[in-house]
Amino acid sequence: MENSKRSAKYIIVGAGLSGLTTANILSDQGETDIIILEGRNRVGGRIHTNKAIDLGATWFQDHHSHVNRLLETHNIQKFEQFNQGQSVLVYNTMAPAHYFESPQEAPAAYRVAGGSIAVIDRLSIAFKDNIKINTKVLLLKESTSGITLQTSDGDYHAQKVVVTIPPKLATTIDYEPALPDTLISAMKGTHTWMSNAIKVGLLFKAPFWRKNKHSGTVIGQVGPVIELYDHCNHENSIFALMGFVNEGLRDVSDADRKERILSYLEKYLGPEIRQHIAYMEKDWSKDRFTACENLKSVYMSPQYGNRLFEAFHMNGKLLFSGTETSPMYGGYLDGAIYSGQRAAKLLLDQVLA
Ligand SMILES: Cc1cc2nc3c(=O)[nH]c(=O)nc-3n(C[C@H](O)[C@H](O)[C@H](O)COP(=O)(O)OP(=O)(O)OC[C@H]3O[C@@H](n4cnc5c(N)ncnc54)[C@H](O)[C@@H]3O)c2cc1C
Repeated sequence: MENSKRSAKYIIVGAGLSGLTTANILSDQGETDIIILEGRNRVGGRIHTNKAIDLGATWFQDHHSHVNRLLETHNIQKFEQFNQGQSVLVYNTMAPAHYFESPQEAPAAYRVAGGSIAVIDRLSIAFKDNIKINTKVLLLKESTSGITLQTSDGDYHAQKVVVTIPPKLATTIDYEPALPDTLISAMKGTHTWMSNAIKVGLLFKAPFWRKNKHSGTVIGQVGPVIELYDHCNHENSIFALMGFVNEGLRDVSDADRKERILSYLEKYLGPEIRQHIAYMEKDWSKDRFTACENLKSVYMSPQYGNRLFEAFHMNGKLLFSGTETSPMYGGYLDGAIYSGQRAAKLLLDQVLA
């Protein structure tokens, strides 16, 4: 249950992976006076699992050391992405599809047992009374004693504030005094990773594709679904497919998009695709807690981790964090954890100074 606390030594803006990482490290080091302000009606940010389907972040690999270490620390299991059987590559709408088997020696992509949200659930436990959801931060105003945060739910006050909102979106907050122009322009120029993605998820009573010796993988930039994968859960009790929708279908009607997706997948996976027991989509570009209105589609991972994000602002009281500020695997889960750890370290260094 939330409490009525409105002032804390630290306020973290955003209850995503980065913000929750910072909160946990600070608290492990005895800095427990923390409030986390979250604009959405849920925690997790770009980690969002609905009915066991990861509509946001899903995969990581062996080289994502921060993710692997976090899972080990909290005893959360990982498992390999299922890829056994025939996969389909659709490279040309006029040519027949190409069928292939994934090389078993390819580096494994892992998923989190229980869905990616299991990580967020674990990191939120200690803060359940101090995470204020439905609290959108609108203005940060510096005073001699700290920073006052005007929000959709009244004012909060902190000595130190960490803003973990994607940098581009963080420019929609007002700052008094204004932030340096160089910083604002770096923030505006930082693409929010995956803010243009549309995901689709389908649940079934049984994994019919596995029975048909199909991996569930369908890849092809030319179709309504550009990537699709098996998304059954770790226990093999929930059967699902999940993938990315072609952005060209963003502005068609919901019914039209769904029909185009189903008839495309029917072609490669068979008529059983229509026997789904649940169908869901998530267009992140329409989510104003991730994406700005002036959307720009970016497909290659941009350069992240501008060094301007390492500095404190408002006289040592304000820090920016979040995956896009990370020089390591910026945009990814690993970068979110890295940035969260860095923010905590910078704040703890101030305590010791
Ligand atoms: C569709 C999709 C697929 C992805 N797939 C992968 C993947 O497979 N592997 C991988 O490594 N990464 C993936 N990612 C990226 C991964 O999700 C992010 O790197 C990570 O979750 C970012 O965490 P964060 O805490 O930095 O930011 P966020 O999760 O964006 O957290 C920021 C938080 O701030 C909140 N907020 C925003 N504005 C305000 C405001 N004004 N006031 C208060 N709160 C506010 C938001 O609601 C959010 O909770 C994917 C992302 C998406 C969207």
